[in-house]
Amino acid sequence: MNNKKEVRVRFAPSPTGELHIGSLRTALTDFLFAKKNDGTFILRAEDTDRKRFVEGATERQLRDLAWAGVTVDEGVVLKDDKITEVGDFGPYTQSNRKEIYAKYVQQLIDEEKAYYCFCDADRLQKMREAQQAQKIAPKYDRKCLDLSKEEVEGKIQAGKDYVVRFKIPEGKTVFTDLVYGKIEVDNSTLDDLIIMKSDGFPTYHLAVVVDDYLMKISHIFRGMEWLASTPKHVLLFGAFGWTDEMPEFCHMANILNKNKKKLSKREGSVSVADFRAEGYPKEAIINFIALLGWNPKTQQEIFTMQELIEQFDTAKMNKAGGVFDLDRLAWMSKEHIKKMSVQKIYKESLPFLQQKDYYKNAPEENKTEDYITKIIAVEQDRLENFAMVGQDNQFFFKDSVKLDKELLRWKDNTDEQTKTALEKAYTILSDVSEENWTRENLEKILMDAAGDKRGDFLWPLRAALTGEKRSPSPFDCAWVIGKEKTISYISDAIATFE
Ligand code: GLU
Repeated sequence: MNNKKEVRVRFAPSPTGELHIGSLRTALTDFLFAKKNDGTFILRAEDTDRKRFVEGATERQLRDLAWAGVTVDEGVVLKDDKITEVGDFGPYTQSNRKEIYAKYVQQLIDEEKAYYCFCDADRLQKMREAQQAQKIAPKYDRKCLDLSKEEVEGKIQAGKDYVVRFKIPEGKTVFTDLVYGKIEVDNSTLDDLIIMKSDGFPTYHLAVVVDDYLMKISHIFRGMEWLASTPKHVLLFGAFGWTDEMPEFCHMANILNKNKKKLSKREGSVSVADFRAEGYPKEAIINFIALLGWNPKTQQEIFTMQELIEQFDTAKMNKAGGVFDLDRLAWMSKEHIKKMSVQKIYKESLPFLQQKDYYKNAPEENKTEDYITKIIAVEQDRLENFAMVGQDNQFFFKDSVKLDKELLRWKDNTDEQTKTALEKAYTILSDVSEENWTRENLEKILMDAAGDKRGDFLWPLRAALTGEKRSPSPFDCAWVIGKEKTISYISDAIATFE
C-alpha cells in the first residue's frame, strides 16, 4: 500500500508589487519539487492586507512566472492572458474566502482558544513603550482575555473596533524544518497574535493555516523570514485539531548581496521584470536563482529546467544564504545564449534592437532577419543578454565606413605596404563567388593569404571594413556585410592612398 501523501505545493504571493527575484525562487522551488514528485503546483493570491494591495499586481506576477516557464497547475492562473481560477479547492484568492475564515475564527472563539480584543492603538503603543523601558520583549498583556460574554457583546453593540487574538497555549512547540531541522520554542515567548483584523479580514497567520489545510497542501516552501512565524502556525494547526494534516515546512535561506546582507531594492534590479527588461534570458535567470537556494553537489553549473527538475532535492538545500552575484548571472547568461540557435536569439533580441538608435537609423537592408542573424552569429559567444546585440559593433548598421590612413596602418608600416595589403585582399576576395562567401571559407582563404604576417595583411582589411579600432575578425565582418560592400569598402580604403 502506498500511503505517501500526494504532493501539493503552493506559491502564495501577496499582490503588493512586482515579482521579486526571491519570490521567483520560492515559486521555482515549488515547481521543481512538484514536477519531481508528480505533484500539483498551486498558486494562491494572498490579498488580505488591503493597505498594501496593488491593483494588477497578481496579473503581472503571473505573467512573469509564465515567462520564466514556471507554470501553475491549479489555483489562480492566466488563461489567454486573463486571470482566472482552476481547481476544486477554490476560491484561491483570499479576499473571496472571508466567510470561510470567519467560520474558523468563530470556532476558536467558541472553544475559548481565541478572544476579542478592544485595545486601541494608543493603548498598545503605551504598553509596548512600557515593556521596552523594562527591557522585556513586547507582547500583548492579555487585558481583554477575561472580558465576560456580556462585556464583549456590549462593546460590539456600542460599535467599538475589535480584533480577534489567538490565545497562545502554555508549553513548548516543536516542529521539524526540512532545511533547518528540529526547531523548539517556549510558548511563553510568543505573543497572542491577531487572527482577525478590525476590517474583518483575517491576518496572514490565520488565512495561511486555514488555506493550507483546506487546500491539502503537503509541503510549504517559503522564505526564511517566515520561520519565526511557523511555531504560531503549528499551534493554530493544533488548535483546530489538524496536526496530522499539517504540511512539512521548508524554509529557504535569504538571498544576500555581496556584503552578505539581505538583498534589497536599493541595490538595483531585484524584480523579475527588471531582469527581463535588461534582456537576460529566462533560462539563465532560472539556472541562476535555482542555485542560489541549493547546491547540486557536482561540477555542473549550467542546467536546463529539465535537469533542475531531475536533480532537485530538499536535502541539497543550503542553510546559508546564497550571494546574488551579477557577474555570475552574466556568465550563466552567456553560457545559455551560446547554446541557443541564432533564430531564437534574433526573436528574443529584436524588441531590444528596435529601441536602439543604431538600429532605427540603419538602412533597411541592414535590418533584415538574414543580416541581423549574421551579426548574431558573429557576436553570439560574447552576448551576455539579448539587449547587447549590435551594441559593440554598431558599424554593422551603417552604410558607409569612416576611413583614415592612420587607422588602416598596421604598426609602423608604410603607406605602400598598407596599400599593397589592401590590393591583395581586393584581388583575393573579388575571386570568391557569392556561393563560396561563407564564414568558414572566408576565414580559410584570408588566413592562408596572411601566412605568418597576420597583422600586416589582416589589420588594414579589418579597419577598411569597419572603420573601427576594435571589431570582430575581418572574415566575420566580410561575411556579415557581404561581397559587394566588402569589395567597395576595400577600394575606398585603397583610394585614400592615391
Ligand atoms: N503571502 C506570503 C508572502 O507573500 C506567503 C508566505 C507563505 O508562503 O506562507 O510572502
